Amino acid sequence: MLPPRLSSRARRKAGEKAVLARQDRAKVKEQVASGELFFFDLFKDERKSITRMKLVDLLQSVPGIGHARAQIIFERTKISPSRRIGGVGHRQIELLRQEFLLIKNSRKSGKLLVVSGPSGVGKSTITNRLRADERFWISVSVTTRLMRTGEVDGIDYIFVAEDKFNQMIKDNDFLEWADFAGSKYGTPKKAVDEALQDGKNVILEIELNGARQVRKNSKNAILIFIEPPSWEELTARLINRGTESEQSTQARLDRAKEELSAAAEFDYVVINHQVEQSVAELVSLALR
Ligand code: 5GP
Repeated sequence: MLPPRLSSRARRKAGEKAVLARQDRAKVKEQVASGELFFFDLFKDERKSITRMKLVDLLQSVPGIGHARAQIIFERTKISPSRRIGGVGHRQIELLRQEFLLIKNSRKSGKLLVVSGPSGVGKSTITNRLRADERFWISVSVTTRLMRTGEVDGIDYIFVAEDKFNQMIKDNDFLEWADFAGSKYGTPKKAVDEALQDGKNVILEIELNGARQVRKNSKNAILIFIEPPSWEELTARLINRGTESEQSTQARLDRAKEELSAAAEFDYVVINHQVEQSVAELVSLALR
């Protein structure tokens, strides 16, 4: 049978409708991908543009479900990939829910690693080497300290004013926070939780008081202390780094004495003779 003949006006209208439907579907896929919309809620959506959407297109917009995983889901549930959203029955929705649960449970949460030690010992040099390693995720702290030359906001730290930091404390946004040498430093909780759920081994590079808070609140955290080869070496590194005023260097050295005497509170101690070797030790401790 031939399709009915359409007048040019009807054809134009049909074309406009198709464009709107495509826009609806693209928006929905984007919202599912960003987590703004929940996949299963779309089975209740009665818009024709959505009920006529292919299940395979929607499924592949869910974070963590690509082509391969979608195919496995279709095979296991015996649902046809070309099925439209409006044609998925209650029992099939239930089967899809079970598949989602299986995926969630199979994703292992990552470990929380705290790297601490006196200022100038080389913690950030060590942790920075792991930035490109996708098994790890380095937390970016929030600080009220002034930005040093060469530092980048959002990469080295999130630099904020005192007011903003205090508001974040009130809003319970920090996993831990501490005062250090006249400035405040804190670890944003939400970002760390998300990275852990994503299966990343999260590294917090923080000072002693913060490490103690993590020890108290996160029982599974692994605490690693980085020690300098000697006191002389630490003093020389801090002074040669040339990033601090005389007053700040002195404040950091005073704190260093206290920090060094707390090494026994940590699960592991790594002596930073040489960066590559310390990085290798850190990785093997993290992945054991
Ligand atoms: P700096 O000013 O040299 O970058 O950092 C000073 C100290 O603050 C370092 O020992 C560093 O590890 C620590 N620090 C950096 N971020 C945080 C944080 O979020 N929380 C805590 N408690 N200490 C931090």
